[in-house]
Amino acid sequence: MTQLPSSAPRESRELGPKWLRSTVFPLFLLCCCPPFVMLLWYTHTQLDGSLLKLLRVLWNEGLWSTLGQIWTPRLLGSLTAWKILGVYVAVELALVRVLPGKLVSGPITAKGHVPKYVDNGVASFAITVGLFLTCSYVLHLFPASILYDNLGDILGCCNVFALLFCVVLYLKGRFAPSTPDHGLSGNPIFDYYWGTELYPNIFGWDVKRFTNCRFGMMGWPLLLLSYAAKQQELYGLSDSMMVAVGIQLVYIAKFFHWETGYLRTLDIMHDRAGFYICWGCLVWLPCVYTSGTLYLVHHPHHLGTPLAAAIFGLGVLAVLVNYLADEQRQRVRATAGQTTVWGKPPRLLIGHYTTEQGAKKENLLLASGYWGLARHFHYLPELAAAFLWCVPALFDAVLPYFYFIFLTILLVDRSYRDDERCAKKYGSDWDEYRKLVPHRILPGIY
Ligand code: NDP
Repeated sequence: MTQLPSSAPRESRELGPKWLRSTVFPLFLLCCCPPFVMLLWYTHTQLDGSLLKLLRVLWNEGLWSTLGQIWTPRLLGSLTAWKILGVYVAVELALVRVLPGKLVSGPITAKGHVPKYVDNGVASFAITVGLFLTCSYVLHLFPASILYDNLGDILGCCNVFALLFCVVLYLKGRFAPSTPDHGLSGNPIFDYYWGTELYPNIFGWDVKRFTNCRFGMMGWPLLLLSYAAKQQELYGLSDSMMVAVGIQLVYIAKFFHWETGYLRTLDIMHDRAGFYICWGCLVWLPCVYTSGTLYLVHHPHHLGTPLAAAIFGLGVLAVLVNYLADEQRQRVRATAGQTTVWGKPPRLLIGHYTTEQGAKKENLLLASGYWGLARHFHYLPELAAAFLWCVPALFDAVLPYFYFIFLTILLVDRSYRDDERCAKKYGSDWDEYRKLVPHRILPGIY
């Protein structure tokens, strides 16, 4: 679950000269993404989710004046927004720490570090959603629409916090790294953007697990429930909202069931803790990932039971296939290949690699089941699920599909990044795997 197109160092697919990749592209994202998030929120809540209306405002008022009017009052958020975030962060930090669970290891890093986590994602998810609903509907401490009502200020707070937090992470990786996996490129812009540490830890909390899973992913269901509550308050709850929220809740529940698997993905084992991943999870994810549903608040389409049920059923199926594909490759490794894939013994290759300390290691590469269809087949059901939770917005506007379009670009980019990383890591063994599984994402086509 990476958030922004990456300019991480690449080996074979170098786009343009080095200064472009290491300075101009990061600078572009650093400057454009924060205002973009505010514009997206504003367009959905004040301009009916219409890109045309936004373009008209920009044309009439000019970019700077529009941004000034939208952003200046929310630049530092509001007291209410800070209180909401303060309580949320305190609860999530406590849940990571106090809830029991099995101790699991992450993948060993190039420098030999093995991260450890307590597997308590499902319990944290259930308690977080339960607490939000109880405090709102049973104890009446706040209306469930509180997040929607304060969203602009919340994004303002998240943005300012995340930008400063990334400065702290930059300095921490430079002067007080937690593990041997850290370093500087010599270009402060790139180091701020990409990060200086792979596994920063602050007071015993793993930073990336917190920002990615327990802030970004955990906030997602609460925002959805708040948007649904707002629609209910204004127009009554539509079946389009129920379908969109329902598929996403299944997806997020799956994510927490599989959280320890996520802790073995590129986001964690490759991407350093900098603006790219941390700002992405603290600000981009809450705004962009929920934007299709934000649009629905003021567009309560009635789909009718057959269509609503069909979209929901297909969405859940897509989430299930994505989960099964992730689970398949992880199960094969966890059992050292002593398992079955689609009812047969798995077709396996051994990927040999050498760590930075020169230790010789090997990993199993699965070439059957979902992993025999294409090297990143699992991105297809991921995209299908995203499309299906956007489609209840029907086809009046483009903006509700922004997340789906963004995810398509992100996953295609990611398939290249991952191929390059694996080619570098496994050398000729990866070439062998590529010969067995020649397609990248779409079996037989791409
Ligand atoms: P993957 O789960 O695809 O893992 C990639 C790693 O798996 C590789 O680097 C390699 O690591 C190992 N690997 C690759 N091929 C094989 C194989 N044939 N057999 C065994 N191991 C292999 O990583 P992602 O992080 O891209 O995706 C994880 C999940 O997250 C997916 O479900 C994806 O859809 C989802 N996702 C969601 C996003 C969102 O924003 N919604 C964004 C990105 C991903 P090693 O070094 O261990 O060999």
